Amino acid sequence: MNYKEFHRQSIEQPDAFWGEQSKLVHWNKPFSSVLDYSKPPFSKWFVGGETNLCYNAIDRHLATRGDQPALIFVSTETNTEKVYSFRELHAEVQRMAAVLQRLGVGKGDRVLIYMPMIPEAIFAMLATVRIGAIHSVVFGGFAANSLATRIDDAQPKVMVTSDAGMRGGKAVPYKHLVDESIRLSATPPSKVVIVNRGLDKDMPIVAGRDLDYATLRQQEMDTKVDCVWVESSHPSYILYTSGTTGKPKGVQRDTGGYAVALAATMKYIYCGNAGETYFSTSDIGWVVGHSYIVYGPLISGMATVCYEGLPIRPDPGIWWKIVQDYKVTVMFSAPTAIRVLKKQDPAFIKKYDISSLRHVFLAGEPLDETTHRWIEGELGLPVYDHYWQTETGWAILASQPGVEMSPTKPGSPAFAAFGYDVKLLQEDGTEITEPNEKGVVVVVPPLPPGCLTTVWGQDDRYVQTYYTSFPNKQVYSTFDWGIRDKDGYYFILGRTDDVINVAGHRLGTREIEEAIGSHPAVAECAVVGVADQLKGQMPMAFAVLKDSSIAETAEQRAKLEKEIMGRVDAALGAIGRPSRVHIISQLPKTRSGKVLRRSIQAIAEGRDPGDLTTLDDQAGIEQIKSAMAK
Ligand code: ATP
Ligand code: MG
Repeated sequence: MNYKEFHRQSIEQPDAFWGEQSKLVHWNKPFSSVLDYSKPPFSKWFVGGETNLCYNAIDRHLATRGDQPALIFVSTETNTEKVYSFRELHAEVQRMAAVLQRLGVGKGDRVLIYMPMIPEAIFAMLATVRIGAIHSVVFGGFAANSLATRIDDAQPKVMVTSDAGMRGGKAVPYKHLVDESIRLSATPPSKVVIVNRGLDKDMPIVAGRDLDYATLRQQEMDTKVDCVWVESSHPSYILYTSGTTGKPKGVQRDTGGYAVALAATMKYIYCGNAGETYFSTSDIGWVVGHSYIVYGPLISGMATVCYEGLPIRPDPGIWWKIVQDYKVTVMFSAPTAIRVLKKQDPAFIKKYDISSLRHVFLAGEPLDETTHRWIEGELGLPVYDHYWQTETGWAILASQPGVEMSPTKPGSPAFAAFGYDVKLLQEDGTEITEPNEKGVVVVVPPLPPGCLTTVWGQDDRYVQTYYTSFPNKQVYSTFDWGIRDKDGYYFILGRTDDVINVAGHRLGTREIEEAIGSHPAVAECAVVGVADQLKGQMPMAFAVLKDSSIAETAEQRAKLEKEIMGRVDAALGAIGRPSRVHIISQLPKTRSGKVLRRSIQAIAEGRDPGDLTTLDDQAGIEQIKSAMAK
């Protein structure tokens, strides 16, 4: 079957299509209907079916591949490498599950996981869903107040944490932050389980509340904990969106739909086979970590890599060494990480035997054409951009090489994934049918299996946030702006919030960034719209160079700025030309690696930069401030 037919079937005959895909996972009790869409826009998939995510990720494989690798832990921070077979993973997850059960965690209770990238974090996730409880993983870099907001929203019974994480060779305290967040929280958990790595000698312990995991585990070495079968729509987890727009939303995920969707993506998008190794460089704190460090690969019988460390330490070849050592076949990373590698010596890629690798997938931010071409050239493999959101749990737009091989187009995440009825709408709701016209990317509901079923505890907010952008049309808005070319390839132009309106012409930040990034000296850049009396808004650019020594003097910078503006003129005409191109050495990014345009814009307009708790490093914001002060 070709892609077009496959996609059409998924939209026109969802029952037949998803009924077929449902066979990719184990059901303890078969479902009575594929889809219940009696209360739009809420959809329930595989109604009445009973399953369990952990059973599908582990138990199901014991008979066929019990002794094969399931979890590969590599830490370049503590210099540890450890491989767990499916059988060993099964044992560890049951121990963790027994500990949670003994602490009173049962079906529907929440467990908040605030952990570095260590195997116990993954045990905790799998153990939680094993017993029918609901996990909420919070990214380990979030500060105490962000953590407290999430505690109050999810109201966990138990928290699982660690004394510390490690970053660039330095211990980063976690437990201290947990204590602080519990002080700030209105509904704190009664127990905190601590995986003590011995990295923080001053870790405080609150008697009666804080418990040592090693001690608890010792009591459960041989405890068997059966999977609790749950109805398909039973929540498996809550995960908050990255907060790039400043309003994190608690995405609620079901069980059955998610399992089926992930299994299908492993087949049709990632082409990962049982017995092979999948390496996602994300973090379990993000949706990519949920779907493609933990559940997707394991459900399909693949080994998954849990990597604690930076992409350039001990040297920029570390990822490719992991690919070589563990014969990785599928890799998943983010454009921001590839741009980091682009600033390094490419010889590091060539140093290792990466012949096992079939292809690489990237997501999280627009992948500029220059970076896309660069990484494909260096690896000599297809590199697929694909587009998705925390909300959807898996790709909305993606090449689907498992259905049909189609060439990649630089900068494009390709086509609608199966199950997504994607359209482009003008702001008044008119559908765009002509190629290369800009519109908001929307999905006609019902959303396919695996997507958010609601906002945790706030059905109204779910409908209000996602389905009310267009008059007289109940469609799911992605709040991203895009185009579709004549061959049907989509291009994402940026967030609707970030669209720049220059004298009535609407420009996506991406379009201008693309032109700036094509200058060979530029490593990465960000463009924002700044209020302008005459034109409404004017683009302003901030660029980071591959080699900053070429722009040390004011003269060199002026020359470079002119050259870069010339690139924009050539690509978009004078309408897109930024008022200034500021050369800086670091962009402000969220902890998930996304450029924080809203704060750059605020500073450029002399306003308060707003909530900066999602910021990775204050230095980027300082750079913007000092560039504006000059
Ligand atoms: P919040 O919703 O809390 O403001 P966020 O939107 O950054 O945060 P995520 O769900 O992590 O949270 O990110 C999804 C967004 O990331 C998309 O809506 C889109 O703007 C961007 N994105 C993801 N993948 C791509 C891609 N391949 N190309 C372009 N943009 C992408
Ligand atoms: Mg978002």
